[in-house]
Amino acid sequence: MFRAFLIKYGEIGIKGKNRYLFEEALVRQIKLALGKVEGDFVISTERGRIYAEAKGRFDYDGAVEALRRVFGIVAICPMWQVDLTDMDQMKKDVLAYIDSVYPDKNKSFKVFTKRADKNFPLNSQEINIALGDVILDTYPEMHVDVHNPEIALNVELRNRLNIYSESIPGPGGMPVGTAGKAMLLLSGGIDSPVAGFMVSKRGVTIEAVYFHAPPYTSERAKQKVIDLAGIISRYSGPIKLFVVNFTDIQLAIYDTCPHDELTIIMRRYMMRIAEYFAKKDDCLGLITGESIGQVASQTMKSLAATDAVCTMPVYRPLIAFDKQDIIDVSERIDTYETSILPYEDCCTIFVAKHPVTKPNIGAIRRSEHRLEGTIEELMETALSTTEIITVGE
Ligand code: ATP
Ligand code: MG
Repeated sequence: MFRAFLIKYGEIGIKGKNRYLFEEALVRQIKLALGKVEGDFVISTERGRIYAEAKGRFDYDGAVEALRRVFGIVAICPMWQVDLTDMDQMKKDVLAYIDSVYPDKNKSFKVFTKRADKNFPLNSQEINIALGDVILDTYPEMHVDVHNPEIALNVELRNRLNIYSESIPGPGGMPVGTAGKAMLLLSGGIDSPVAGFMVSKRGVTIEAVYFHAPPYTSERAKQKVIDLAGIISRYSGPIKLFVVNFTDIQLAIYDTCPHDELTIIMRRYMMRIAEYFAKKDDCLGLITGESIGQVASQTMKSLAATDAVCTMPVYRPLIAFDKQDIIDVSERIDTYETSILPYEDCCTIFVAKHPVTKPNIGAIRRSEHRLEGTIEELMETALSTTEIITVGE
């Protein structure tokens, strides 16, 4: 029924050179997304418009689903695009469109004509009337409703004639590749995949780091994180995932530091390692799934103690989210079912019964002092044995 899509994007605040970059990035992401769908697609732009047109047979549902994951798209309008000749032909095309898209004619409608081609002999209002009349004559069950039509029939006179009336919401946001890169600390939990999704939605390219603690955490726990990265990559594009072997560092902390400080100290080492890889790859920040007060290590004091080891900004998009709000997003983006699989997490294995909720940075630093002499080599080994997996190519 449809062979083409009109792709609408938000334009607010995007002007001049930025708009050109935005459009270019969006076209690139659309090509990547449709590249995985059955069919041959041609993407073209025309003054603030992006079209995706299928040449020959294609998977319509697959194309819509792929486009619904491309950040920057506000709406996807399945469209007929035909040659623009004269009013008689236009009437025939519009009637054929209605007949094909709306088998049930018992509907209200309104015609919205836009005339970019000012040479056409009729103006927009005249075309609205002419098309409205011929529709009413041909399909007597249909009626006009100018305030709340069931069918908003858009007729655009551009290089060719665009006819569309359906609008499928896109995800919004900014096209990936327009805002630099950031390193996501990705665990197997519910929160961090959502955090990565949200930052990626603002156009940021994502890399990820996962702290693995074999044999305390299993291969299945690692696979779960790879799977989560795979789900995020359907939106964000391929993710370079660093799998850090964290066991020896955790054991050293466990053996040397007060147990109520374990989580904070462990988190500080995670941040140091994440920042190391982030800097190497020109990332502009770190991302975590923390939110204020969710657990002891996420009080404002604990977050400050974690932040203190970072020189890069730490982005925490869920900082003010309630757990249920995070779960809602994770269900929507399809990470929830994977996140709740019951595999062990390196943080829960070495967790203290009564972790500090108001860590004193001086005390934490003194505890970390005790690691000097052993931790350096462990850090070096962790960095040099890190496995790199590209997910979602
Ligand atoms: P999540 O659901 O993201 O695991 P959480 O509620 O379990 O979060 P914590 O375990 O306190 O919270 O972890 C806080 C944040 O630290 C996580 O959101 C994540 O960004 C990071 N993090 C925790 N454990 C790991 C890990 N093993 N590898 C990578 N990052 C981790
Ligand atoms: Mg967790």
